[in-house]
Amino acid sequence: MVARTSSGTASQHGPRPDRAASYALLEEPVTRARYVNAARAELLAKLKVTRVRDLLTCYPHRYLDMSTVVSTADAPLGQTVTVVGTLDSVKVKRPRPRLSLVEAALVDESGVLIATWFSQPWVAKKLKEGMRVALSGKVEFSYGYKRMNSPFSDVLSEGAASQDGPAAHGVIIPIHRATAGLTPSWMRRLISAALADLDNLPDPLPVDLRLRYRLMDRAAALRAIHFPRDVGERDQARRRLAYEEVLCLQLHLLMRRNEELTGVEPVAHAVDGPALAALRDALPFQLTDEQQEAVAAILSDMAAPRCMNRLVQGDVGTGKTVVAAHALAVAADSGCQAAMMAPTGVLASQYGAKLGPLLDKAGVTWALLTGATPASQRKRILHELAAGELQVLFGTHALLEDDVRFARLSLVVIDEQQRFGVGQRSKLLSKGPGADLLTMTATPIPRSLALTLYGDLECSYIRRKPRAGAAIATKVLPKRRRSAAYRAIAKALKVGEQAYIVCPLVGAPKKKRPSSEEEQEAAGRVADQIARGVDVSDATAAENLAAALRTREFPSYAVGLLTGRMKPAEKEQVMSDFAAHRIDVLVSTTVIEVGVDVPNATVMLVEDAELFGLAQLHQLRGRVGRGQRDGTVYLLADPKSEEAQARLEAIAATEDGLALAELDLASRHEGDVLGFRQSGASTLKLIDIGRDRGLIERAHEDARWLLAGDPQLQAPHHALLAAELRAVFSQIDDEAVVG
Ligand code: ADP
Ligand code: MG
Repeated sequence: MVARTSSGTASQHGPRPDRAASYALLEEPVTRARYVNAARAELLAKLKVTRVRDLLTCYPHRYLDMSTVVSTADAPLGQTVTVVGTLDSVKVKRPRPRLSLVEAALVDESGVLIATWFSQPWVAKKLKEGMRVALSGKVEFSYGYKRMNSPFSDVLSEGAASQDGPAAHGVIIPIHRATAGLTPSWMRRLISAALADLDNLPDPLPVDLRLRYRLMDRAAALRAIHFPRDVGERDQARRRLAYEEVLCLQLHLLMRRNEELTGVEPVAHAVDGPALAALRDALPFQLTDEQQEAVAAILSDMAAPRCMNRLVQGDVGTGKTVVAAHALAVAADSGCQAAMMAPTGVLASQYGAKLGPLLDKAGVTWALLTGATPASQRKRILHELAAGELQVLFGTHALLEDDVRFARLSLVVIDEQQRFGVGQRSKLLSKGPGADLLTMTATPIPRSLALTLYGDLECSYIRRKPRAGAAIATKVLPKRRRSAAYRAIAKALKVGEQAYIVCPLVGAPKKKRPSSEEEQEAAGRVADQIARGVDVSDATAAENLAAALRTREFPSYAVGLLTGRMKPAEKEQVMSDFAAHRIDVLVSTTVIEVGVDVPNATVMLVEDAELFGLAQLHQLRGRVGRGQRDGTVYLLADPKSEEAQARLEAIAATEDGLALAELDLASRHEGDVLGFRQSGASTLKLIDIGRDRGLIERAHEDARWLLAGDPQLQAPHHALLAAELRAVFSQIDDEAVVG
């Protein structure tokens, strides 16, 4: 146990813990940190803080610059300012039966300011008499007082006379994420104590890199990011820690890839075989230039005796699937097998429907394996697969099962790869050591993000669709104008077309009205989940909507329902009913997002569109306008902020998926940018993929350079770095098991 005293000067501390001990303490349970008892540890766990290290990387999400604080007497009317003082009273009032009002009086040395919050009763749970708080908001004057309506509030300390005030930390006050029972001021106290006990933490970054970029020492950076003396110091600290984050992730990704590749024997595929030639002959159309380029790149990767890692990016409908078909034929020509995995059964079945006939003509044997495959059929497939009789296997996560064994798997194709975790990817690859990996996505990835997520990977882009195709008009409508969208759907149904209605959200609005902050957080969480492919929709909400539409809006049409909670077989039934036009209107959750191809569907209505990432909305709208007729997409939304409004306008105005993905990045909706379920990226707490592109590129190059000289990081001067990587990523990899 490291000697610690809770107060006093350096001389009262015991002997300085040696660096190794200090370093080891990082990995200890957070209960080893001062003031962290079992109860607080439980609260911290809610913030995903379980180790001392996690506490230190719980960076402030905001800072309050006390140098901009004004006194209540000086607070200018009509302007938005921050005042700091002690809460003299906090009262909950009920001016009307259904209206609650929290009123607080803040006192500073110059006077009083009254703050009010309407219909936000929980404010009274957070703010208590005697607390020292900062309030930020617009200053008004009425009934004899300066007032703020619904100001932003930060609790600086529980009591007025705490040493935790600005004097203790300078003029910048960090606001850490808090949770019920653990206030920001407590977070400050815990982190401050932990920093004090770890003050001679060694620096894992090699000295040459620190010098090259003039980076702060790590211990200093940690202190400065939590308790900066000024904004400049904070920014330097952030730069240093962000660089470290991304460098470590790059090293981790590159080393993991090297490890995957050690001892495996890559296949040098034959790219001039009969199956490929027959496939080319069988194609009912000519490949576009971009498709040809992508095919050429893939074939040259596959012909080479190294492991391909290529990502084909292209909007829905750009013809990625048929590009992948060429790779499948090459594997077959080389006497090997290929697996092609999709995130949904619907999509996997479409491969069979689309590529099956082509493969048949090319003389390539194939099968489809999903969760819905009957046991007897599954048994036969597995047998033929293990015997090497089956050359191509399409499927879903069902491919990952242990008893799915290949005779000689040399190509793994993963479609909509962002929907799969790292563990899942590795699991499939492990069925064919040395296999080439071809991934595809309709959600474009800016290069900085591709690097961040995957380390090393080659990209092929398909930007133009093979057929000019039908146009898709995107219209943003306030929710009260829903009926306009229903009329458009009715009109389409009348002429025999079909429609989608997508419900993203957790059903009926729950209980009280949340504050705008809570609302944004909730929306962020939901958007995050949506982007991650989690089906967040309340199945009952979609059910209710479907029921309502059946009786009210579209009584004479078949209204179907598709949710993520349905069994795979049910889902597939509904999809095939929709494809066969036995269903006119499909009410669904985001499960229809990827790859569904029903050319007769021309109208889509998206509920709560503001909760989606732009890239995802872009994918959704690609479901219509797939046939000859133009498509129309109605985005129903009541955006709560100008930013949300601007985002929706952007999607209505552009058809460029990559541009929308960049916008998602720029507006810091990284979660939705791609919702990549790449677990390693969860270590990125400071990196802003949109803003830190240069940093990411440099860290990527630096990681390659470091590993070129010391592939396993075994040199003594890399020992700390290696230890750091183990500490940061050991848990992550455990999490990444197939789920
Ligand atoms: P993606 O997988 O990228 O969404 P698909 O491979 O499903 O796109 O292709 C969309 C549609 O375009 C399919 O019906 C496919 O047969 C067709 N297609 C693909 N390439 C071409 C091409 N070069 N010329 C004409 N049609 C094409
Ligand atoms: Mg596709």
